[in-house]
Amino acid sequence: MKTIIQNGTIITEAGSIQADLLIDGEQIAAIGSITGDQASADTIIDAKGCYILPGGIDVHTHLDWNFADLKTADDFVTGSKAAAAGGITSIINFTNRREGQSLYEDLLEWKERGKPCNVDYGFHVIINDYNEQMLEDLPKLLEAGVSSIKLFMAYKDVFQVDDGAMFEIMKETGKLGIMTNVHAENGDVIEQLIARHIREGKTDQVYHSLSRPAELEAEAAHRAIAISDLADAPLYIVHVSSALCMDEIAAAKAMGKKIYGETCPQYLALDITDLEKPDGSKYVCSPPLREKWNQEKLWEGLSNGTLSTIGSDHSPFHYADKERLGGNDFSKVPNGVPMIEDQYAVVFHHGVMEERISLDTFARITSTNPAKLFGMYPQKGTIAIGSDADLVIMDPSQSRVISEATQQQNVDYNVFEGKEVKGVIRYVLSRGEVIAQNGAYTGQESRGKYLHRLPVSDNMKL
Ligand SMILES: [Zn+2]
Repeated sequence: MKTIIQNGTIITEAGSIQADLLIDGEQIAAIGSITGDQASADTIIDAKGCYILPGGIDVHTHLDWNFADLKTADDFVTGSKAAAAGGITSIINFTNRREGQSLYEDLLEWKERGKPCNVDYGFHVIINDYNEQMLEDLPKLLEAGVSSIKLFMAYKDVFQVDDGAMFEIMKETGKLGIMTNVHAENGDVIEQLIARHIREGKTDQVYHSLSRPAELEAEAAHRAIAISDLADAPLYIVHVSSALCMDEIAAAKAMGKKIYGETCPQYLALDITDLEKPDGSKYVCSPPLREKWNQEKLWEGLSNGTLSTIGSDHSPFHYADKERLGGNDFSKVPNGVPMIEDQYAVVFHHGVMEERISLDTFARITSTNPAKLFGMYPQKGTIAIGSDADLVIMDPSQSRVISEATQQQNVDYNVFEGKEVKGVIRYVLSRGEVIAQNGAYTGQESRGKYLHRLPVSDNMKL
């Protein structure tokens, strides 16, 4: 099966060129003038006026995921179709711990659960109930293609691990070349602030944000950085929401430490005033939405390399459930927002079209850097001969309006309802197959492949 993409502008982390692309099977076979192959091509796509971008890699998803007694609204089928429609061709999802099961058994369980996935998929294995024996599973995970784990410094009595456990785990992950993802918020102090607000009758959704101030995000980031540095382990701080937290990453990077930061579209395009709306529970996620001035700082961080990636933290719960459980008490609202489908378009709109970041930065933060940090580069993350043909064909001259009514996400609302974004995704290709056109999934069922990821290298150039 041969596909030619003509007349587009190819965008990578290294810049842009006007060139045609030849895809042979699942990989990119040629870039440049390829007129001689036209007769033998099965499909020719005209990308006139469009950008051809590397497929989005979302390393922060919670499909089919348990949070307390609830499960996220998207499973691997609906979530991956929404991802594909929105320009995402690879995801890394979190596992859940199952009591009495080893970390390796968790992975095996999740590999089964991931089989219906329609985009390529891998897993970060979560550790929330640390015991020494778990360290023996880490080399086995690596052998099975898992080069990352996840630790939480918040959600006391649910996911939170203590500093000693973090240190012991990171000593091992550092040795093995496993990336540690950390949710950096000080869970102990947050518990106190939540309890105080509830005691004082301050139960409105905005108190969700006021119970989790940026100081506690920055403090936890600082602590995680110090611990990872002592353990000589690379560290990836997920969902950086505030300038204060980002400053900790900038300082660590300036000292040459192996620290990387991710932010999410919700922190770039939404703010604390959304929590003050009558439907504020829709916007409850952790870390919480911040004061608006943080947004421009985060964009600057993406532009100058302080922040390395965009992740969605897609963790959808129906608005009906959020209201039923926590409509009158912010502390009972299931945390998370639906984000997998619109992340790419929203970052393209506010970032590229509104001139906050360059096209090559967009390619870097949505694809190249996540591929490098999580052991997938150069199979994924760029447009080069021999790389998987994971591509997004984006028409920057067109606009569309985001709405729950037209989304593929299996959830009853969209945080960007009514927002007009510049840039329409015409085609999404995954390993050479067109899997989405104009916002609808068009690929085969269960076509995703498990991503067997490589160890993280010590001298990574982002
Ligand atoms: Zn998350």
